[in-house]
Amino acid sequence: MLKDLFTKKKKYASIPSEVANQDVPEGIMTKCPSCKKIMYTKELLKNLKVCLHCNHHHPMNAKERIQSLLDKGSFIAYDEDMVSENPLQFPNYLEKLEGDRKKTGINEAVVTGEGTLNNFPLVIAVMDSTFRMGSMGSVVGEKITRAIEKAKEKGVPFIIFTASGGARMQEGVLSLMQMAKTSSALKLHSESGGLIISIMTHPTTGGVSASFASLGDYNFAEPKALIGFAGRRIIEQTIREELPEDFQTAEFLLKCGQLDAVISRLDLKETLTNVLDIHAPGGETKW
Ligand SMILES: [Zn+2]
Repeated sequence: MLKDLFTKKKKYASIPSEVANQDVPEGIMTKCPSCKKIMYTKELLKNLKVCLHCNHHHPMNAKERIQSLLDKGSFIAYDEDMVSENPLQFPNYLEKLEGDRKKTGINEAVVTGEGTLNNFPLVIAVMDSTFRMGSMGSVVGEKITRAIEKAKEKGVPFIIFTASGGARMQEGVLSLMQMAKTSSALKLHSESGGLIISIMTHPTTGGVSASFASLGDYNFAEPKALIGFAGRRIIEQTIREELPEDFQTAEFLLKCGQLDAVISRLDLKETLTNVLDIHAPGGETKW
């Protein structure tokens, strides 16, 4: 039943490490920012970057996310060479983009393409918060829109992983326009019978949370992910009320009915497989 879909747990071995507040040798060991415990980076990567001690979900970049989910060798990237210009002549914008390209090895804050997940064909878009904080400029919006259109054309589900600080200020209103553009494309995909699955990861904020991130047939999130439109302080100052401690966390949103489920990264592939299966032509109902 529905409950089983989200509660299956896998067992992973953990390594003993009680040493906190020490210098961590770069690369070999990783210190968890949440529980402060130190673990082997290799073990952390094997556990999909989920802390072996406290379940903290360390950020995943787009490449790691795709590798963790799609069938080996199945991913074909779309629009890899599309790059932003500087429409508002914003000072140092092009230099910053170039710096992020060198640092991350990707050209923009989203990677899109097609592939298979446990043999189910799909189109996927994965935002990458290591590139300009995952902010959405015109290239991010265009790549996502094209990916949605491709999913519609192929008649396959569209899955998006969001991680974003919101609209990209250096592109002003052109960034905001992407909210409407992506939302329209999703509506057309939906009207053609296409499935949309959104998985919000830490952080999903601003214009991204207020457009495609929240428009899935399924809206999922990773544990403790920050999801919201305006920042906590701005809301508190506007409504002159103190907000709950867990305000804008995935768990809070689930409680308020804005999410369908909060899913551990360790269970995500299985959950997505089940969802794809029940919506596939001739799929097996497992609910
Ligand atoms: Zn931890």
